[in-house]
Amino acid sequence: MKPALLLNASYEPLSVVDWKKAITLVLLGKAEMLAAHRRTIRSARRTFELPSVLRLQRRVKVPNHRVHFTRSNVYRRDNFQCQYCAKKFPASKLTFDHVLPKSRGGDTTWTNIVTSCQPCNRRKCSRTPEEARMPLLTNPSEPRWWPFSASAGNLDDHPEDWKPYLWI
Ligand SMILES: [Zn+2]
Repeated sequence: MKPALLLNASYEPLSVVDWKKAITLVLLGKAEMLAAHRRTIRSARRTFELPSVLRLQRRVKVPNHRVHFTRSNVYRRDNFQCQYCAKKFPASKLTFDHVLPKSRGGDTTWTNIVTSCQPCNRRKCSRTPEEARMPLLTNPSEPRWWPFSASAGNLDDHPEDWKPYLWI
């Protein structure tokens, strides 16, 4: 059965909950349903829509989550897309590139590392994007924490309904 994305009252993603928890939150009036999966659940007395996106009625305080800086989270942030040629690749075909080359003092941080395919990485070599005339698709930044960061999938694997809430 499909899970639901749970948002805080302020619309920040909090977690992914299973369908039973999702329905319970709605029935208890603790959350409102913003989107439903295209299927229903029948009990003896009534039919429920299966929530896809829920929003809590009252805001809960959450600790300041930070996304671990790892190779796979960089790929996920960049949607498995080479930031130079814009093509998508499986993780095994990707590498990461220092925007300001390491040899010139570039550090290994969220704001200086981008996903690159191997040919683009070789082509750029130890030049800046300007010098190499290889403009970046997006400026690298530290991503917001997202509730499925522990899962191996990328954004394309998640329901359409969720996408507006995952990258604000
Ligand atoms: Zn490329």
